[in-house]
Amino acid sequence: MTSNRDPRYDCLFEPLKIGPVTTPNRFYQVPHCNGGGYRDPTAVARMREIKAEGGWGVVFTEQVEMHHSSEISPYIELRLWDDNDIPMLARMSDGIKDGGALAGIELAYPGINGPNLYTREVPMAPTALPIRTFTNDPVSARSMTKRDIANLRQWHRAAFRRAKEAGYDLICLYGAHGFGVIQHFLSTLTNHRTDEYGGSLENRSRLMRELISDAKDEVGDTMGITLRLSLHELVGDLGFTNDEVRELVGMHGSLPDLWDLAHGSWEDCSGASRFKEEAAQQELVRGIRELTDRPVVGVGRFTSPDVMVKQLNSGVLDLIGCARPSIADPWLPRKIDEGRVEDIRECIGCNMCITGDMTMSLSRCTQNPTFMEEWRRDWHPEIMNPKGESDSVLIVGAGPAGLEATHALGKRGYEVVLAESSDTLGGRVSKESQLPGLSAWGRVRDYRTWQISQLANVNVYPNNTLTADEVLEFGSEHVAIATGSYWRRDGVSRFHVKPVPSTGKLPVFTPDDIMAGEKITGKVVVFDDDHYYMGAVIAEKLARDGAEVTLITPSAYVSEWTLNTLEQGFIHNRLLEHQVDILRNSAVTKILDNAVQYTDTYSNKNTDIECDALIMVTSRLGDDTLWQSLSARETEWQDHGIKSIQIIGDAQSPAPIAWATFAGHRFARELDEPVRDEAILPFRRELARLSPKNDSK
Ligand code: ADP
Ligand code: SF4
Repeated sequence: MTSNRDPRYDCLFEPLKIGPVTTPNRFYQVPHCNGGGYRDPTAVARMREIKAEGGWGVVFTEQVEMHHSSEISPYIELRLWDDNDIPMLARMSDGIKDGGALAGIELAYPGINGPNLYTREVPMAPTALPIRTFTNDPVSARSMTKRDIANLRQWHRAAFRRAKEAGYDLICLYGAHGFGVIQHFLSTLTNHRTDEYGGSLENRSRLMRELISDAKDEVGDTMGITLRLSLHELVGDLGFTNDEVRELVGMHGSLPDLWDLAHGSWEDCSGASRFKEEAAQQELVRGIRELTDRPVVGVGRFTSPDVMVKQLNSGVLDLIGCARPSIADPWLPRKIDEGRVEDIRECIGCNMCITGDMTMSLSRCTQNPTFMEEWRRDWHPEIMNPKGESDSVLIVGAGPAGLEATHALGKRGYEVVLAESSDTLGGRVSKESQLPGLSAWGRVRDYRTWQISQLANVNVYPNNTLTADEVLEFGSEHVAIATGSYWRRDGVSRFHVKPVPSTGKLPVFTPDDIMAGEKITGKVVVFDDDHYYMGAVIAEKLARDGAEVTLITPSAYVSEWTLNTLEQGFIHNRLLEHQVDILRNSAVTKILDNAVQYTDTYSNKNTDIECDALIMVTSRLGDDTLWQSLSARETEWQDHGIKSIQIIGDAQSPAPIAWATFAGHRFARELDEPVRDEAILPFRRELARLSPKNDSK
């Protein structure tokens, strides 16, 4: 790296000892999931390697199940069950170390957080209680005996040795987010024991102390041993509180080589920008550093180098922990070092990345469309493939799909023209970022418009609504139609696949009307059959603007899909704060003159609710009129020098913003590339090695 950095960021680049190893700087990629885990290890390895290349001093794995007696299926993380898992983990540490970072492995024994759906072992916990998982699996954990605890220590010793053999520099013992046995012992919520492992904090921390001593004894001469703890469980009278965290660090400050502090549950820790600001955890961390002579790392969706410097200079943290900011921009440290702060692709805090883990699919990032495609498709987050044989491309529509395509093609070296109907760029992102809590989403537009403004080979024309004739006349060799989508007014979505019957008297609006400034007052019904964020955001906005709002949804949950972004509980609470009435398991089935009829989805019982307006948040349709006109004139393309016209993003098929940035990026990557043989997959995949059919073991 050539350093051209602003000297005020120098402190972020000072090395620091973590036990026997030294991190080259203060950028610490804390463990994070990616939806790939043991199913896609090479994809994970390449993703981590690129972060090391991008300047992170420490790069961790996601959680690694350290023994087969506790696992978190159906979620896909990593495993270190026996020596067979070492090569997979070594591939990751090799990549990380090749990039110049310290390689860290997070060892987890999920205990009461693991239903063992795959191994069918009986789960174990400090105290017998039902399993505590997202899905309330109907399984209980049994109480650990002293023999079990002794075994657990031996299993950890074996895992420490294997982690060393796999080439790691740092071990993180996972005791945060309710996901690790150390926390289950520390917390009075899950530890009701009366022996020397229960009761006082000293007793509850016994296992933690034993495991750290065992780790030091086994591998401490060459590996740093870190401890990841929850800062506050926030579960009322019971639980591991922030006061107890401070007491614990005060008692055993020098025990681990580093304290890694993360807020309560995963929902609290990975708060979406809609609910949590950058550095939201600092008050829970402040002062802990004074209780220990070991370094402290904490997280807080840090994207601003100035905020990072403040965390160090004000003595809150020694190292800047990042998961999401490192996903959105794997080269964040390098950009600061090279004096290119304005090039940082800032995380927008949408938590789309988390949905990969929750849905057991590869994670996506709204801002970084190359995330988890680094190996699968050879997509590097900063380096584009060289320009192909064509020269010119016209992009119609400057939403996330069009902006991403323009930026990526510009970087490849094409002459790109971006035409946009309105006077502002950003499409849906510009509109949606005006809604309550969504301002950070504007970063999708801001990053790309700045990057595009730096490219001499890109020209942007706002206030230009192109017709099919104009596109044909324009003379670009390739055209992408990224004209976006609009919300349906007729209620068609999942519950209704045909329009909802209406007398035609009650005013019916869509989110597009509200984003365009339509003021709606009085009694309003919001019908949410979309199930992501929009229904609740619109309900919140209308309530804030003084309307009396009822939200009706056929789901058992408000904004059901946000269970996957960890926002659902916060969203429901926010609606309650704004006095929004919530009717679940119900669907609007008739639009009357001054009311709507809704039906209970179980009993089919109908009820009328008086209202002045209905807002349909049901589904969107792609705006493909321009594409349809051009398709109908395909025979004319060649005469105008046009080699291809494609429709991309929401115009082709509406989906979350991450799908649009992906579509734009894919269009840019694949332009002029050889036409793919249909028999060959468009990406690489990891294949399981078949075992001999009659292998006795
Ligand atoms: P996506 O998410 O796929 O990027 P958006 O809805 O965010 O889609 O953005 C589509 C953009 O395309 C909007 O800003 C819209 O104003 C613009 N647009 C739609 N039709 C035309 C057209 N015929 N010419 C130029 N711009 C258009
Ligand atoms: Fe940030 Fe959203 Fe990307 Fe996750 S998906 S890293 S929250 S921008």
